[in-house]
Amino acid sequence: AGAMAEVTAAACAPPPDVDTDDCLRDYRHLFSPDILAGQVAFITGGGSGIGFRIAEIFMRHGCRTVIASRNLQRVSEASQKLVAATGQQCLALCVDVRQPQTLVAAVEEALKHFQRIDILVNNAAGNFLCPASALSFNAFRTVLDIDTLGTFNTSKVLFEKYFRDHGGVIVNITATLSYRGQALQVHAGAAKAAIDAMTRHLAVEWGPNKIRVNSLAPGPITGTEGYRRLGGQSAEQASMWDTIPLQRAGTKTEIAHSTLYLASPLSSYVTGTTLVVDGGSWLTSANSFAALLGIASSSA
Ligand code: NAP
Repeated sequence: AGAMAEVTAAACAPPPDVDTDDCLRDYRHLFSPDILAGQVAFITGGGSGIGFRIAEIFMRHGCRTVIASRNLQRVSEASQKLVAATGQQCLALCVDVRQPQTLVAAVEEALKHFQRIDILVNNAAGNFLCPASALSFNAFRTVLDIDTLGTFNTSKVLFEKYFRDHGGVIVNITATLSYRGQALQVHAGAAKAAIDAMTRHLAVEWGPNKIRVNSLAPGPITGTEGYRRLGGQSAEQASMWDTIPLQRAGTKTEIAHSTLYLASPLSSYVTGTTLVVDGGSWLTSANSFAALLGIASSSA
């Protein structure tokens, strides 16, 4: 029984992580270190938070990366850290996922540089806590623009420029917000639910082109802008994580590991699904309007 408990505990133990946008100080491979050898991944929003860690973990598994977002200085600095820590190549490019021309230019540049793109991670997004009644028409539209239209724009450009003829794999980073109608999140919840639908539509249409499309829905993840902005710290202090079946928030490395699974040949027969990586959180989340309003006013 003792040995059994040990095995179970190891399977729930988070790998070490750092809260800042820096690379891991040490890393122990769980997957084969060359699982992505020779491949190239295009990661939107790869300069910070979850996207940065996805880039790092991919590079630690032999992948070269393109990290693209609006702030060129941010992605350039991130790229230097990633190259220094992993010894792999990383190209930093400027895109606004709301503007298809910027995506066309970036994908052309990436193909000129690497001659191939195997993986697309649609990770760029924007979010904040706000009651629907206080949300401006424009704020709602902007979140759908970045998250939903941005994911479509990037996927379509990658399809036309490369995946249609070579195959590929797409991972869309979504959220569990809509599963229980999370308070103060109608904008992000609606945007991410639409992406999960897009995942299924594109998986069906593009399957014959040897393109797999899946969503990954994270729960609360420490060391991220999302966690800071959506009141992760105050939630932790208020013991709100006690209601999560695994009793804790997740880490960026845990999201990166699950993304690696979806991007790699380990999931070669998996398409059109959403992998929820939230410690069971959405099943038991209190979704307390009062508590969330407290967090929203204290973080504003
Ligand atoms: P983050 O650090 O704020 O990452 C968002 C990234 O998107 C930034 O690097 C940002 O870079 C980029 N971006 C924003 N608007 C863009 C645009 N118009 N065009 C191109 N890039 C744009 O946040 P995060 O917390 O790591 O979130 C990453 C993903 O995980 C998001 O999809 C988020 O919804 C999802 N998620 C996070 C959590 C969490 O607890 N953190 C939970 C559930 C889901 P620039 O400012 O340079 O453009």
